Amino acid sequence: MTLHIAANTGCNLGCTYCYEEPDRVMKQKQIDNEYDIDAIMARLEEWKETKPWEPPGMHGGEPLLLRKEHLDQIFAYCYENWDEKRTHIQTNATLIDDDHIELFKKYNVSVGISCDGPIELNRERLARGGGKDVTDHMSARTLSAIERLADEGVPVGLIVVLHDGNAGNDEKLEKLLAQMDKWNAMGIYGHYNPAIPYEDVQTDISLTGERLAEVYLRTWEWMMEPGQDYRSWNPMRDFQNNLLGTSLRNCIVNTCDVYNAGAAQIIKGDGEQTGCGKTWAAVGDGVPFLQGESTDNRYNDPDEQERYEMLKQVPGACDPEYDGPDLGGLRGCRYWAVDQGGCPSAGIDGDYRNRSTFHEAHHALYERIEGDMRRMFPAIRLMTDLPWDAPVSDLAASKQVDIKPFVNMQHGNGGEPNVFRGTAEVEPPFSIITNMDMPFEARQKLYEDYYGEEIVTADPATGSIHADSDVARLQPRADDDGKAGCCGDECDC
Ligand code: SF4
Ligand code: SF4
Repeated sequence: MTLHIAANTGCNLGCTYCYEEPDRVMKQKQIDNEYDIDAIMARLEEWKETKPWEPPGMHGGEPLLLRKEHLDQIFAYCYENWDEKRTHIQTNATLIDDDHIELFKKYNVSVGISCDGPIELNRERLARGGGKDVTDHMSARTLSAIERLADEGVPVGLIVVLHDGNAGNDEKLEKLLAQMDKWNAMGIYGHYNPAIPYEDVQTDISLTGERLAEVYLRTWEWMMEPGQDYRSWNPMRDFQNNLLGTSLRNCIVNTCDVYNAGAAQIIKGDGEQTGCGKTWAAVGDGVPFLQGESTDNRYNDPDEQERYEMLKQVPGACDPEYDGPDLGGLRGCRYWAVDQGGCPSAGIDGDYRNRSTFHEAHHALYERIEGDMRRMFPAIRLMTDLPWDAPVSDLAASKQVDIKPFVNMQHGNGGEPNVFRGTAEVEPPFSIITNMDMPFEARQKLYEDYYGEEIVTADPATGSIHADSDVARLQPRADDDGKAGCCGDECDC
């Protein structure tokens, strides 16, 4: 979860796809008004007590439009009052000057920068009130700020918004990859952020799910090219981690109900708290600005998971046993445990209850990565080896589950370790690293879902649970012909 201060400063750019535009249109009065630094600081003081897990940072609009003394005040507070002694900022970088760099160094600020590629791919990031030349000039400032910060040793992470203007065809995509190659070679990494299709409020330049899948798959190939080991980009690496069960990285693959966008909490310019800005637009039922105290809607409530209960039961394109019309759900999706519907702001047909229009791309990327990992290590165990709806996503997100992906390749498992075949197994297929917070019944269900109720013994008195499983049961991916189980990609098994 990230904690932000977004002080209603507006922005000196006017990107055509900016997901904050609906908020600006609706709340122009607030932007025209001054932000209230005292209200922001009062809320931060409250967060110091209630949200000690992560230091907050600055977000936009464009946070460098705050007065420098206020930036200093907020950075200093976050730096000094959270244990990690660091903070962060998300900026378009066009306004960065020497004073800002001094502040970044003084308060250990990592700098997230939005940039859509080289200048010619950056033309959706319009300079407000300027023409093409001013826009290009601003893009040049962003690109040189990235290099300067890297030279100065300030940590930089990049967001590349994907849209028709930088990834709509292969020629543009190759230019973008060439720019990413330069950044990676400098030790600068980042992630893709597909533009959201907000048709009501701005021109829709978002990629179709099909095109996004092509972009993701090409980027994965680009990363895997021989001799280019320094290349890395997300969500590609995140998806590898997700399949290995090491975590459930990236909010867009985790649960995020539109009423309780748990991945982001935000302090607005008047000190009010709200959730992720992507849910500020009208979503499905036409009600904008669903979150925040002024609407009385709860947010960040972990019990509000209705969207996911529905998605799990509603059939759609991923259900191998269903051939009816696509109803927008995810029943039976092989990747449910690592991709639970996607960002609600990108729900199919503008309806947050549906799976995201980008799920198709996620699914394709997961399929490719899973296939490649299994070809490399046929005996590897991935999250997809668990039942499709095993309740492990929350555990992965909170790092409480270890599916032991390499257990068949280790000594001490009652057989020869082997990259090709799973061998005899004495461990359960996954173990709960920290089970203190997990109810006994939930843990029991995990075992029963995997092994079958009939062979699981659970003793609530001692908390002990084990499965009397045989070797065949523990090797569900090996068939009688001795070949590995389905590679998940381009095969008929
Ligand atoms: S720079 Fe960021 S906040 Fe500003 S208009 Fe562009 S996307 Fe929106
Ligand atoms: S609304 Fe979308 S971008 Fe925002 S926290 Fe939720 S999943 Fe993430």
